[in-house]
Amino acid sequence: MSERKVRVRFAPSPTGALHIGGVRTALYNYLFARQHGGEMIFRIEDTDSNRFVPGAEEYILESFKWLGIPFDEGVSFGGDHGPYRQSERKSIYKKYVDQLLEAGKAYIAFDTPEELDAKRGEVANFQYDASTRGSMRNSLTLSKEEVDALIADGQQYVVRFKIEPNENVVVNDQIRGEVVINSSILDDKVLYKSADQLPTYHLANIVDDHLMEVSHVIRGEEWLPSAPLHVLLYRAFGWEDTMPAFAHLPLLLKPEGNGKLSKRDGDRLGFPVFPLEWKDPKTGDISSGYREAGYLPEALINFLALLGWNPGNDQEVMTMDEMIKLFDLKRCSKSGAKFDYKKGIWFNHTYIQQKSNEEIAELFLPVLKENGVEAPMDTVVAVVGMMKDRVNFVSELWDSSKFFFVPPTAYDEKTAKKRWKEDSAERMTELAGVIEALEDFSPQNQEAVVMQWITDNGYHMGNIMNAFRLAIVGEGKGPHMFDITSIIGKADTIARLKRAVEVLGTK
Ligand code: GLU
Repeated sequence: MSERKVRVRFAPSPTGALHIGGVRTALYNYLFARQHGGEMIFRIEDTDSNRFVPGAEEYILESFKWLGIPFDEGVSFGGDHGPYRQSERKSIYKKYVDQLLEAGKAYIAFDTPEELDAKRGEVANFQYDASTRGSMRNSLTLSKEEVDALIADGQQYVVRFKIEPNENVVVNDQIRGEVVINSSILDDKVLYKSADQLPTYHLANIVDDHLMEVSHVIRGEEWLPSAPLHVLLYRAFGWEDTMPAFAHLPLLLKPEGNGKLSKRDGDRLGFPVFPLEWKDPKTGDISSGYREAGYLPEALINFLALLGWNPGNDQEVMTMDEMIKLFDLKRCSKSGAKFDYKKGIWFNHTYIQQKSNEEIAELFLPVLKENGVEAPMDTVVAVVGMMKDRVNFVSELWDSSKFFFVPPTAYDEKTAKKRWKEDSAERMTELAGVIEALEDFSPQNQEAVVMQWITDNGYHMGNIMNAFRLAIVGEGKGPHMFDITSIIGKADTIARLKRAVEVLGTK
């Protein structure tokens, strides 16, 4: 077992946008595979054609591309265990269904939906299992001739798994330890439907994991109830020796209160639950995505990695390589992980600080452009360097730093009332003259000369600087004054001073 090559798979059903919990599942699979020098497969589980949503597969692929999680094998990646879309593997599954039928581990059932409904009305808590299958229309109660005749007649049927009652089924879970359930609570699951000649999720999932040599099944907790059935299927096929190890990841919980995270929580509290924006092809509804909301993929990955796993110390900020080194299924929690979206915002802030000013400037350029600003790259880089520690998202840079690129069109009323004094107009006119005379416009020289001018004239430093800031920025905030003026330049500084004098005048 320990010799076995690590092969994991991420196997979504293309039923819509990829939920953020699915992203975490894929991430943990990726970390685990990379740590063990293994491989990760991308498989599409599309045997339920009723739930197929066009565009979902492409959406999922684009999400992982954005996130920087590459697959080694699978749909769109190739590999020698394909095809990797279950709908293209129809011919493969039939053989395995027949194998179970021949071994008496599965049987054919003809019960129509109406008959099943009638039975449910008759028997309280009806379940198709050892206690009821003897009274149903199936190959266990009908003769071989009758069964053949019904099939020849074109009657639709399903193949059900024959579960032996009263047996303790043990699922050895890498996170939860031994999970034991009694087989009597399981129903004889449908494995195959003649109507579409397709297996159900359970059969296709097991056959594919086997044929694709999957060594570890790491998936969400919602699949834990299916695991005993899956163990029984491996046994029925005689594949116990190569049965993958299971690990069921903890649920993602609401940020507040109880229960599992839903899209409604995101809508209510204002955070996305999908990696990318998603437009529902049926309703046209648009759901927000992390990418469009301005998250850096690295920040989202780091945030998700810690929702249900910890590295055993209090390190929070980790590169992908560090996470690959540190990841450990044993350090995944059994209990649900609260989706603290504010922590996600904190990670984004932190990653913005860690990135170079040049990288953030690249991301800021399109925002500037949207606002009609085209500025030289070195100016943008300088502004980013001064302002990035004040923002959580690149888009917020516009609001906090637009005064670098466009003169104020209005002056904050409260600030003006407090900081534009009786003599401000006169002083700012003088200051414009002082600046005009500067030959060296470096921040150091500006500061030295302006300070000297203030001292020589016995002016009030605070009053001068406050009025100066109001004239240049339009409000009372912003970084060091002379850093701002050296970016906007001498001419603009003078123009802004003159305009403030004109608009705010003498009180
Ligand atoms: N197709 C299932 C899903 O949509 C896969 C579950 C599993 O990983 O076994 O998540």
